[in-house]
Amino acid sequence: MNILILSPHTDDAELGCGGSICKFLENGNNVYWMVFSTAEESLPEGMPKDTLKSEFLDVTQHLGLCEEEVQVCNFRVRYLHEHRQEILDQLIKTRKKFNPDLVIGPSINDYHQDHQIIANEMIRAFKTTSSIISYELPWNHITFNTQLFIKLTEEHMSKKCDLLKNYKSQYIKERLYFSEEFIFGLARSRGVQCNSKYAEAFEVIRWML
Ligand SMILES: [Zn+2]
Repeated sequence: MNILILSPHTDDAELGCGGSICKFLENGNNVYWMVFSTAEESLPEGMPKDTLKSEFLDVTQHLGLCEEEVQVCNFRVRYLHEHRQEILDQLIKTRKKFNPDLVIGPSINDYHQDHQIIANEMIRAFKTTSSIISYELPWNHITFNTQLFIKLTEEHMSKKCDLLKNYKSQYIKERLYFSEEFIFGLARSRGVQCNSKYAEAFEVIRWML
């Protein structure tokens, strides 16, 4: 299966579906991963501007993805709305080149301004061609519909945490959602909903068989 991962900023997809990405690769699926902003302006003072980009590339290297399987755009963080058409053009280019069976991106119930843009353009670009699901980032949602579960093992969850450890610039901010306690706790809750030790939950926007 060809699976396209869409990440508004560098760490979103790892947080929302890092365990599932590990599982997809383990099962021999083709993954293409697009990032839209490396959030240069959100970095702690004094840090090199390309810190998040190089941390993201460490993640993809860790997963064994090559340069051709990754695309990093550098639109200004919190201003993706000013580049809506360019983002749509990039997505359509990827649709023609990669022809994804499944697209995974942010939820239309995600209230981060940049995530909303990617969610909308994702639907616009892929609504007639691919299955589309959205990952869960609870700190950005008022509501989230747990319609699809990807069952995960303890090993997948440990790998997810290892991926996130590449983001040293984010760890020093002590964000609550980077804590292993939270990551394992949420996956345990989603696991209980689907009779698995751990799971990640998704909203279904389009499902094609
Ligand atoms: Zn984000």
